Amino acid sequence: MASLTDLINLDLSHSTDKFIAEYIWIDAIGGLRSKARTLSGPANDPTKLPNWNYDGSSTGQAPGKDSEVIVYPQAIFKDPFRRGNHILVMCDTYTPAGEPIPTNKRCNAAKIFSHPDVAAEVPWFGIEQEYTLLKKEVKWPLGWPTGGFPGPQGPYYCGIGADKAFGRDVVDAHYKACLYAGINISGINGEVMPGQWEFQVGPSVGISAGDEIWVARYILERITEIAGVVLSLDPKPIPGDWNGAGAHTNYSTKSMRNEGGFELIKKAIGKLESKHAEHIAAYGEGNERRLTGKHETASMHKFSWGVANRGASVRVGRDTEKEGKGYFEDRRPASNMDPYVVTSMIAETTLL
Ligand code: ADP
Ligand code: MN
Ligand code: MN
Ligand code: MN
Repeated sequence: MASLTDLINLDLSHSTDKFIAEYIWIDAIGGLRSKARTLSGPANDPTKLPNWNYDGSSTGQAPGKDSEVIVYPQAIFKDPFRRGNHILVMCDTYTPAGEPIPTNKRCNAAKIFSHPDVAAEVPWFGIEQEYTLLKKEVKWPLGWPTGGFPGPQGPYYCGIGADKAFGRDVVDAHYKACLYAGINISGINGEVMPGQWEFQVGPSVGISAGDEIWVARYILERITEIAGVVLSLDPKPIPGDWNGAGAHTNYSTKSMRNEGGFELIKKAIGKLESKHAEHIAAYGEGNERRLTGKHETASMHKFSWGVANRGASVRVGRDTEKEGKGYFEDRRPASNMDPYVVTSMIAETTLL
């Protein structure tokens, strides 16, 4: 008798040339949805995959009378859950007339990144995605006594041991699954608040940083589904003396990475300062609960920057100052930010 696990792991490669494509898209509130279809033929070029549609009236993205939202395949990754030749497909969303729907931020971002002045500067992004794991039944952080609190922050950041690190199996499963999928994941670490973790993606060029963060979030939520824990991207999951969750966005252009780059970095930071309010408004819901000026954040009301300063809006690393070239870190984005919005806005403000 076959077990369920045997069937889930069935190798289809000798039975059929067909493969399964899991189409992924962003819903009305920045969550992810997906559904699967059987395809055949080449699976390496998103422009060769068929468009598809979903019932937008069920996701709050279309009226019931004209409910179809059309999804366009944009980026392909290997599927770590089904493995074999099966794929994950990151899509964006359009009306039947071909207009991007309001929650489709990728369309405009792709336009900015294909602008010749932006493309010529080969913008790199390294995004640090912080997140919190919650116990499913009580929606309280993993490792915390239900209805109570753990000991104060201090031992948990990069910590080890059963009383300091909670959920490492999920974190490590996600790390390997992302590498398998072809995501440029660059590392993971335990965070200051117990039950909170971080993964980094990048450096990735232009629009691919957004595609990779969204698919890495998708893989993470699928893994938490298997593990029976809940993923939270809330920027301040627990009020009070507990660190919030951000999505620090590290950025450089070709000129910043070359001789004399530090001068250009300072100019770019000046441009970000002049558009501080616009950026803050687009950097994630609920970020005002996180950007208080405490817990390694800068107040959202005042732009600041500094070398090695983790209490500033923007931080330049010691190495970048010393070498006179490199990159900088925008520490303002919240964990629930849309990376298409944040990366394209930084490129637009600093390059156009
Ligand atoms: P932190 O010290 O703030 O915790 P991390 O090591 O978590 O920093 O993340 C740094 C990120 O910066 C990584 O995603 C890395 O890929 C990225 N990065 C490194 N060099 C560059 C660069 N030149 N341009 C953009 N991003 C970069
Ligand atoms: Mn980090
Ligand atoms: Mn961090
Ligand atoms: Mn950081």
